[in-house]
Amino acid sequence: MKIKKCLLAINGFLVLFLIMSKVVLAQEGAAPRHFPYAGKVNALIVLVQTQEDRFEHCVQYVRDEDGVPKYEGMAYVPHCSDRKGRKDQWKIGSFQSWTDDPRTEWPLDTLDVLPNRRKLPYWAKEGRLIDLPGKRTVTTGSLTDFYLLMSGNRLDFRGMVYPYVYVHRYPQKYYFEQPAPFTNGVVKMAHEAISFVGTHPQNLPLDDVAIWDTYRNGVGADRRPDGKFDMIILVYRFNGFREVIQGSGISSFGTSGGEDGFAVSPIKLGDLEVVEGYPHGSGVIARGNSHKEVLRVIVHEIGHRYYGGHTNSAFDVMGYGSYAFYGAGNRLQLGWVQADTLNLATMRQRKTSVMRWGDCVPAKCYGLLMACLDVAT
Ligand SMILES: [Zn+2]
Repeated sequence: MKIKKCLLAINGFLVLFLIMSKVVLAQEGAAPRHFPYAGKVNALIVLVQTQEDRFEHCVQYVRDEDGVPKYEGMAYVPHCSDRKGRKDQWKIGSFQSWTDDPRTEWPLDTLDVLPNRRKLPYWAKEGRLIDLPGKRTVTTGSLTDFYLLMSGNRLDFRGMVYPYVYVHRYPQKYYFEQPAPFTNGVVKMAHEAISFVGTHPQNLPLDDVAIWDTYRNGVGADRRPDGKFDMIILVYRFNGFREVIQGSGISSFGTSGGEDGFAVSPIKLGDLEVVEGYPHGSGVIARGNSHKEVLRVIVHEIGHRYYGGHTNSAFDVMGYGSYAFYGAGNRLQLGWVQADTLNLATMRQRKTSVMRWGDCVPAKCYGLLMACLDVAT
């Protein structure tokens, strides 16, 4: 029997975290952690469409069409035509169709119920997007399921989905041409959507402050209520917010500074103040033309409150264009996993080519080492 060992340098970023893990864990507060990363926290999720969003299929979506939200640099249409009838194309760099599979995607023709409301897509109902606070079972593939898995059961992230898709009152350009009294059109749109939820609560228990206020906004480790709504997630089937930001979402309701963009026209849900801004604000905006896209963008936008800015790693929740969700480094930073250090000296003494739990790679090595065994007789 011959054992061939190959060591692959995959990604320097990850091994640095492996090696530095004890240092990182020792430096509590090194990451910003503006949002709770342990215990229970709840979110109110509201699905939203703009009036311009009348796309039944991605082939209808072209960059220069008048009135269409722009995704400069994101080539949807070529990927769409690549699909060749497959219902779930989710390779890196490509996009799903938006309507072929109503179980995972967001069809346009969810019937209008009232002028400002449409029906929720399948994946946003009955715990598939997020599980109710206190519910004993967890729905596979929900945000609750995701965070429990990533955090090693440390973060119990629950919530409720507003039971209708909210459709904006005016075309999107109205908000950008007349943003006053708000900083920009996105803040004005978010303000309108959240205000609508407040005046049409649809039996959501918005008055129950124990559900919606569990921490001091902006300070993730401080679990004392502060009279401010913890987390509202606005999910747009499409957004065209390039006037404000080029990306899939925003880690606030439209501003990036420390101000409160809603201060000029305060909103309350129940007794709780809804605060705009980053990193202390009461919510984020995510794009979500499919179930997976919603999960990816939500965890990224909330990730800004844990990690600050972006990285260029595909193995990092803060990586541009990453579909990798939480990488090992992300979890180490939040104390969601415990890492042991590999000890190469011990491995050499044992004269083994197989790494065991507790083995070490030297600190001079900047690659993630993967031991591959090629067993031949
Ligand atoms: Zn981002």
